[in-house]
Amino acid sequence: MLREKRLPVIAGNWKMNKTVPEAVDLAGELRGDLVGLRERVEIVLAPAYPALQAVAKVLEESDLRLAAQNCHWAPSGAYTGEVSAPMLQAVGCRCVILGHSERRQYFGETDETVNKRARAVVAARMIPILCVGETLAEREAKQTLAVVSRQLFAAVNGFTPVQAEHFIIAYEPVWAIGTGRNATSEQAQEVHAHIREELVMVFGREVGERIRIQYGGSVKADNAAELLAQPDVDGALVGGASLKASEFSAIVRAAS
Ligand code: PEP
Repeated sequence: MLREKRLPVIAGNWKMNKTVPEAVDLAGELRGDLVGLRERVEIVLAPAYPALQAVAKVLEESDLRLAAQNCHWAPSGAYTGEVSAPMLQAVGCRCVILGHSERRQYFGETDETVNKRARAVVAARMIPILCVGETLAEREAKQTLAVVSRQLFAAVNGFTPVQAEHFIIAYEPVWAIGTGRNATSEQAQEVHAHIREELVMVFGREVGERIRIQYGGSVKADNAAELLAQPDVDGALVGGASLKASEFSAIVRAAS
């Protein structure tokens, strides 16, 4: 019964791909393909910063939502090269991906800065998509659940249940991102169930059961249905396969 309440959410992380015209074309194709699914699946597109405004225009009055891939924690100021949460809100973003493993790996993102960014996102009335996940070495050392708990507790630190209810958590094992090697549905479910229990512990049963937990890591049209059939897998964060309209649409349909 509680499961029924969680609307699956499929998000496309376009990473550093697509020029503005290419992004407009892809968003237009998806808008055309993905109609009438509002009751069954939530769809989120996360283009690179330069394309946000143009894609926002393409998505106007559609069911597809716009997200950014990161943001700074300060609302404005002397932070050359950065983009703030109010700026993203003003161009029409509803969500912001935070703590992606590529940010952690290449750009010095830490558990602490993920939390600071999440506070800025919430202050700007948007929803954070909080990424957590272990490396291959951590999995092999049987540290998966401990690592995921550490990242999760840090990310949600200081939020009330009312704020957290709308958060989206993305479990993304680092070894599965962009590698073509997805977690098995059992591996995904094991970690998702763990995240669920941690959320219940922090925010209480009702809110913990409402927060959606996406799986990310080499999700494709042909493995999406099995992953999404798991009781605690409430959607997917999709990288590579989100760059082709037919592939992404097929994943959305698997969720719907
Ligand atoms: C991602 O970047 O969030 C991701 C899951 O990438 P991919 O689907 O390409 O593994």
